Amino acid sequence: MSVSQLAKSIAESPTLKLNEEARLLREKGEAVIHLGAGEPKNKAPISAILTAAAKLNTADIKYTPTDGIPSLKKAIIRYTEENYDKIVGPENVIVSSGAKQSVYNILYSIINPQDEVIILAPYWVSYPEMVKMVYGVPVIVTPEDGGFYPRMEDIKKAISSYTRAIIVNSPNNPSGVMYSDEFIGELVEFCEAKDIYIIMDDIYHKLVFDGKKAPSAYKHSKKDIESTNIIVVNGVSKLYGMTGFRIGWAITNRNLVQIMTNVQSQITSCTAVLLQAAAEGALTGLQSAVESLRLTLENNRNVMIQELRSFNGVKVTNPDGTYYCLPDFSAYTKNSVALCELLLKKALVVTVPGKEFGMEGHLRLSYAGSIKDITEGVERIKWALGPTSPKEIYIGERRLVRDWL
Ligand code: PMP
Repeated sequence: MSVSQLAKSIAESPTLKLNEEARLLREKGEAVIHLGAGEPKNKAPISAILTAAAKLNTADIKYTPTDGIPSLKKAIIRYTEENYDKIVGPENVIVSSGAKQSVYNILYSIINPQDEVIILAPYWVSYPEMVKMVYGVPVIVTPEDGGFYPRMEDIKKAISSYTRAIIVNSPNNPSGVMYSDEFIGELVEFCEAKDIYIIMDDIYHKLVFDGKKAPSAYKHSKKDIESTNIIVVNGVSKLYGMTGFRIGWAITNRNLVQIMTNVQSQITSCTAVLLQAAAEGALTGLQSAVESLRLTLENNRNVMIQELRSFNGVKVTNPDGTYYCLPDFSAYTKNSVALCELLLKKALVVTVPGKEFGMEGHLRLSYAGSIKDITEGVERIKWALGPTSPKEIYIGERRLVRDWL
């Protein structure tokens, strides 16, 4: 049976694949440490559960408007005002099934075949595949110095008459670094001058450490919301650790929101009403859950970085936010896929190869889990790679033997 060439060319999400591999190993009773996870272990905020439960109890579970229930959109408008100092209206907001669908809908709605989208490496794994899925061309811009901060001169060199958009994710998955306010300002100015969309994937914008604050693109814009080139993407997945609720949203000018709404109406009709109710509950409830998650992550980041700094040969850039860091293991091997496989099979630690994020020689390590996972996980990696490590270690009853070096 034949399948579409395009569909065939789309890679499986490596992070979701690794989650599944880890789940299967755990099911077999293996003591796997998951340093690949893109979700924390917290419970959903109680306000989210209560609002969803109240809606469920009505037994009136029907379609909603395609772009989201008005009360959730109101909560998103308030969130935007409080966090971005930007006043937008309901016609500037569209709710989707996760920020992932928001990004896909945006790309579907702005890209013609062969249009180019600039993606800044290291990048979230889904961006290039999504661009390909709408017949666009991903153009990857990689910092020449091997660091994680994009440079305007490299972006300018990558622009062509086909460039339609640039995707910015800061704080960044996978590196955890946050781009400077100055850089965001330059980028907004440049995109406005060239009439290029700037897609701000702000999904981690409140999970920032060391007293820093994520810069807002709006602050640098001369345009009003109806002529804006800025599209802001956000959601409840990372902010409240509500990954399973699948609620994200996009904010931009009403023309684009209308087109995205038409597209979404033909694909999903709307996002599930119970989950929209939960997202509304989270946004309108006590926000201490966000601060508590942020503090946990900051503490976990500190432990992770301390562990990695004592790892001979590994170089690590301090993350400013998110759940992740992207240490450089190229002193051990340049092949991050092989390294990731070795660590999973031999040391039972899940990591994600940097190659998937456009940074070969690196591994993405998540600190969204427990402190014990972080310290034990890094210890196991040290054992697996250290030239003077003992030949074998025990994890409970399980004997791990170093038979590869
Ligand atoms: N953008 C980035 C940068 C992400 O890391 C993720 C989740 N891994 C998403 C978007 C998607 O989030 P959601 O769960 O809301 O679809």
